[in-house]
Amino acid sequence: MIIKLHQNLINKIAAGEVVERPSSVLKELIENSIDAKATNITVNIENYGLKLIEVLDNGSGMDREDAKIVCDSHSTSKISTIQDLENIASMGFRGEALASISAVSEFEIATKSKEERIGTKIVIDGGRKKVIESTSTNTGTKISIKNLFSNIPARRKFLKSPNTEYKHLLVTFFNYALSFPSIHFILKHNQKNIYNLPKLAHESFNEELKARINDLFGKKITSNIIAVNYNSPYIQILGFLGHPSISKSQKSYQLTFLNKRPIMDRIISKAVYEGYHGLISKNQYPVFFLFIKINPSKVDINVHPRKSEVRFENPSQIFNAVKQAVRETLLKFLKQDAQEMLEQYPKFKKRLESGRLKFSKLNTFPTQKTYFDNIQTNRPIRSGGLISDSLKFTKELLQPAKGNSVSFDYIPYKFLQVFKEFVIIEKDNELLFIDQHAGAERITFEKLIKQFKNGMIETQKLLLPEVIELNKIELESIAQNRKKLEKFGIKMSIFGKSAYKIEEIPALIMNSDIKKLIEDIINELNNEDHKDKFETLKSLNEHIIAVLSCHTSIRSGMKLEREEIENLVKNLLKCNNPYSCPHGRPIIWKLNRGELEKKFKRS
Ligand code: ADP
Ligand code: MG
Repeated sequence: MIIKLHQNLINKIAAGEVVERPSSVLKELIENSIDAKATNITVNIENYGLKLIEVLDNGSGMDREDAKIVCDSHSTSKISTIQDLENIASMGFRGEALASISAVSEFEIATKSKEERIGTKIVIDGGRKKVIESTSTNTGTKISIKNLFSNIPARRKFLKSPNTEYKHLLVTFFNYALSFPSIHFILKHNQKNIYNLPKLAHESFNEELKARINDLFGKKITSNIIAVNYNSPYIQILGFLGHPSISKSQKSYQLTFLNKRPIMDRIISKAVYEGYHGLISKNQYPVFFLFIKINPSKVDINVHPRKSEVRFENPSQIFNAVKQAVRETLLKFLKQDAQEMLEQYPKFKKRLESGRLKFSKLNTFPTQKTYFDNIQTNRPIRSGGLISDSLKFTKELLQPAKGNSVSFDYIPYKFLQVFKEFVIIEKDNELLFIDQHAGAERITFEKLIKQFKNGMIETQKLLLPEVIELNKIELESIAQNRKKLEKFGIKMSIFGKSAYKIEEIPALIMNSDIKKLIEDIINELNNEDHKDKFETLKSLNEHIIAVLSCHTSIRSGMKLEREEIENLVKNLLKCNNPYSCPHGRPIIWKLNRGELEKKFKRS
């Protein structure tokens, strides 16, 4: 027997889609306040949202007639025609949020429009209206949701731990606080003030956004982000990208907004990751806050009940724009880094001049007096020894940057090799920990790439050619790729039936274990996975060069000489990307003086 379901039951079923958890309630309530043009939004939460979620606003409010039907399904003031649906400017439009929420909670609304003197209070319990009465209240709306899902134990059981639910509530709050910096937002939990974010009115959205990011996440994030400002006729992208070095092991600082609406979109996040490609390792997640604006008619936001997923008319256009915006912005970031390093020198000079820097303190540098005397009189310098070495070093610094690439030399004030694996440098207020092998790998990689792009990898003849025996499959892949391998600086000839004689290899990896090197290259050539992953030939080339770079002379477990350390640091900081090795593992890890002091309870 088929029966028509009672509306109350329909609403409860619909609630399953709209109201997944406490944070979905908060999302709907805040969106309604934003749509009502509120400039103040206060959120009260009790017991992690399980006892109470309340949103109070100073928006337009509702008159009694509207308030009475607000919880009926499909009641909305926001759209009325199908054309409206294609050009949605408001956050809500489906007219089912309040109906769904009030079906699964104890719901109370107090509201007053500007025109009315007295407001309206309505209480609904599990979908049934209980009270409609007059109440004295300011213009605006207060909606309180108590004991969410208490009438649906199955759903309540479905919730995660209170802490997890609370975290979702916070993220929801963050989303709108970031997207609408011109609204004053307050968040209270168990009557305690958690956030109070006065409204901002800066010159640009990005400036307001940065201030909000600072209010929410602090200086640690804001001093390591760079603004995105990308414009094309069909898309505008604003927001911020985190420096590769502050990438996280979780995706918690990745927020994407489309026309101010927080969304989750695989196309966009993939584009961002591709933009960061090579700058961070695989299991790390970049920090980003991206605000994308496109014509609302070019995107369908009505594909998901909670409107958190969207469908683009032209996804590849979006993908390309985001990727390009990220790439361009990150390049600026890296250049900025390089510039900062350059500026180290005047700093050093000033410190020398003021006498704050003493030779005794800094045994790799000359005293102020010897330094300037020698430079000015051009007196020949005794070769060997600390002073002449460092003078040479410092003189190099004085030379202007060559070409248009930003070149700089870095003075390791103090350094130390530990565990025969890492180098630690003191730089300003930070300790930089460098993975010696990964760093050397990166340097070799970038040099090889440059040589390869210029058409020629520099090779060196082996004094004693190395003969390596190969099995059938290996022989075959070498035979197929011999010409190609020559381009990578590996020259070889057939030797007998089942061996090859290696005659030349790239000069930069002269000291490598040649057998192992050839083995690795063959593996790479036979690895179908990599071929799939790297669709373009250019990337496959990069991959082979990455394998070559692995065979750089500095390995972990090697004790390094002072000069080797200096060269490593200098060359590494000249790299386009000193932060991760070609395979994506991190190279540099920073420890801030403040963090250290905190550990010792000094700050
Ligand atoms: P939608 O937002 O999709 O229209 P809702 O169920 O969220 O549907 O809200 C129904 C209607 O209630 C809205 O269209 C709006 O007219 C009114 N409303 C809800 N919340 C508020 C509020 N905070 N201030 C003013 N009006 C509101
Ligand atoms: Mg709504």
